[in-house]
Amino acid sequence: MGKRFDLDEVRALASEILVANGAAQENAAAVAEVMTLAERDGCPSHGLFRLPGYVASLRSGRADGGAVPVVEDRAPSIVAVDARNGFAPPALLAGRGPLIEKARAQGVAFLGIRNSLHFAALWPDVEPLAEAGLVAIAMVDSQSFLPPWGGARALYGTNPVAFACPRAEGPPMVWDQASSALARGEIMIAARDGHEVPAGAGRDADGAPTTDPKAILEGGTQLPFGGYKGASIALMVELLAAGLTGGNFGFESTAEHNADGGPSNAGECIIAIDPAKTSGEDFLGRVEGLFQRILGDGEARLPGDRRHANRARANREGIEVPDALYDKITALRQG
Ligand code: NDP
Repeated sequence: MGKRFDLDEVRALASEILVANGAAQENAAAVAEVMTLAERDGCPSHGLFRLPGYVASLRSGRADGGAVPVVEDRAPSIVAVDARNGFAPPALLAGRGPLIEKARAQGVAFLGIRNSLHFAALWPDVEPLAEAGLVAIAMVDSQSFLPPWGGARALYGTNPVAFACPRAEGPPMVWDQASSALARGEIMIAARDGHEVPAGAGRDADGAPTTDPKAILEGGTQLPFGGYKGASIALMVELLAAGLTGGNFGFESTAEHNADGGPSNAGECIIAIDPAKTSGEDFLGRVEGLFQRILGDGEARLPGDRRHANRARANREGIEVPDALYDKITALRQG
């Protein structure tokens, strides 16, 4: 059972609760927006479900709800943002304009964000760049949940990567995936709802493979997608998202974590490329030729098509919030 809300109501509810817990209006609006976009696109594990975690990190002081991100122009193609221990969405908003400007001027540009708390879905960080005509890839480092391949102790984050490519018509093609076999939010939701997770998602505290989400969350480890190949992607994200930006590696975030349910204090990088500078005239036409071949093959679809179907439905009908979640988040109004 649940209650239906239109997206403006979701935005307003999330924002109001963040403000009641000490976030500045502008920061609350930016964070509420990414939760609303996740609900809209059918990703509840990064929607209102995350609000208690945001509030916990505001209450513990781990996140500074009043942080004003500082933008640093490092080089003609490099912009850095110090999020000042605030949530990632305001830092992204501050860095996006300079990133687009630099990518158009130089052909390629790099945005590095550090000292930010990111536990949102990653596609909202790249989709606007492709809407601006750029090809973009983003990576975020989370906390240590995955062992290195062959190892036993959690070291890498679940480390998502998102990629966006503009299209001649309609919304860009965007994919967004964790380096782990399952995003941690999916495991948390399975634990909440009493479901098993698929084999290969993780191990228990003794290192034995398990499908029990609680055993994975309570002292166990998650596993990468695709065996050692996923582990190498997670390693790359550590190096690009944390190493290149000055953000924490996953293990450093975990060492600082004060168990308040809040996100990591890690790094994010976004690389944006202007196809007009790299590939000449007909990039979009050639991309479309590739996409049409994919779409013309049986059941094949483009990544992001499911999100767009959810988006259209949510724009029309709003979204449903389970009663238990609604009660939990409205109880946070008290501040
Ligand atoms: P999924 O496995 O659900 O989806 C990964 C991607 O694969 C999506 O772009 C999806 O598109 C695409 N896809 C799925 N099925 C198909 C198909 N049949 N054909 C083509 N493409 C397909 O994502 P994850 O569980 O790995 O991640 C969920 C979320 O968790 C992400 O948004 C990620 O950013 C977030 N996350 C955030 C972290 C953080 O620290 N901030 C850490 C880890 C994860 P579609 O949506 O259209 O199905």
